[in-house]
Amino acid sequence: MQSRQNSKPYDILIVGAGLFGSVVAYRAVKAGKRVKVIDRRGHTGGNLHCVDIDGVAVHRYGPHIFHTSDTDVWQWVNSIVEFVPYINSPVAFYRGKIYNLPFNMNTFVQLWGVTTPEQAEAKIAEQRAECGIGTPQNLEQQAISLVGTDIYNTLIKGYTEKQWGRRCADLPADIIRRLPVRFTYNNNYFNDTYQGIPRGGYNAFIEKLLEGAEVELNSDFFDRREYFESLASKIVYTGEIDRYFDYRFGALEYRTLRFEDERIEKSNYQGVAVMNFTDTTPDYTRIIEHRHFDRSCTAAHTIITREYPAEWSAGSEPYYPIADSRNSALAEKYRTLAAQCSNVIFGGRLAEYRYYDMHHIVKRALEVEL
Ligand code: UDP
Repeated sequence: MQSRQNSKPYDILIVGAGLFGSVVAYRAVKAGKRVKVIDRRGHTGGNLHCVDIDGVAVHRYGPHIFHTSDTDVWQWVNSIVEFVPYINSPVAFYRGKIYNLPFNMNTFVQLWGVTTPEQAEAKIAEQRAECGIGTPQNLEQQAISLVGTDIYNTLIKGYTEKQWGRRCADLPADIIRRLPVRFTYNNNYFNDTYQGIPRGGYNAFIEKLLEGAEVELNSDFFDRREYFESLASKIVYTGEIDRYFDYRFGALEYRTLRFEDERIEKSNYQGVAVMNFTDTTPDYTRIIEHRHFDRSCTAAHTIITREYPAEWSAGSEPYYPIADSRNSALAEKYRTLAAQCSNVIFGGRLAEYRYYDMHHIVKRALEVEL
């Protein structure tokens, strides 16, 4: 019964109204705590935020499809709002031709004209052997080991180097292990058991999570740090971990994204929600056609968004932590400091500097001891 004896106005201050902060807020409110959530942006939901453009729900900060194999996590998010099943099946565009993703029999047929899994496996084995790779040391070697040089050159190299702004040989192998490789005709981008998008969109989901919490937008924790810290004895911090510690060991690097929308007066532009552009040109990595995420969309027009990755600089939004050796080592030092702050919970992509998916975030937020 700590809360009522606590002289501070709130039991918990949550810095950041993204997915981690919102799930923790929901649990804390349910547990009877007085919760304040602040966010530096003018909206809640972090990068899940959607905007309605004349009847088309636009995923403002890139496409989000919730996927998990954890039944507890799936049931929990569905207890907040129903998630409508959705199978993500992006395609890749390379030099005028379309290929299926993730790498599967459809892709192998399109690329090599093979007709059996054995032929595809033999092709990959032959290309792997030509490169003489032992244990893969970086993303390039890992990709060639998994799918051979043809797929690496056609569907991975250009896209990855645009996305990360670094050579594949300088990136860690595990980034590419996120993608399934299958010898079946299956274009489902994820291997997970459950996959969906909240009915009514992500904003409705986040609104539900934040019910009962006091939310203050356009408030940067660092503008009035002492004041905010005085509001509650427990803080949940979801911003950049290096900033929390005043960049004591140096700044971490992030990738950011720039989005360029276009309205087109037809109801179907590219026939799929996500098209990846895997050559070095154009500069964008993908075009999102948002209406395909939502079968209930009846608009006569469509909205497409071109996504341009760039190196993060002050003033832009940090999206992706960079898992190269310098940043990984630096992040570890900050995480060690964070573990010593007993009244602060660090959670989410930015505060843990980890390349989490949404289901990881929910799971961690459900495990946090309040
Ligand atoms: N990737 C690729 N070609 C593609 C899609 C992805 O080479 O057409 C690589 C790229 O290196 C990317 C990684 O696979 O960083 C993981 O992709 P994923 O779609 O999981 O990234 P997300 O955008 O979801 O974080």
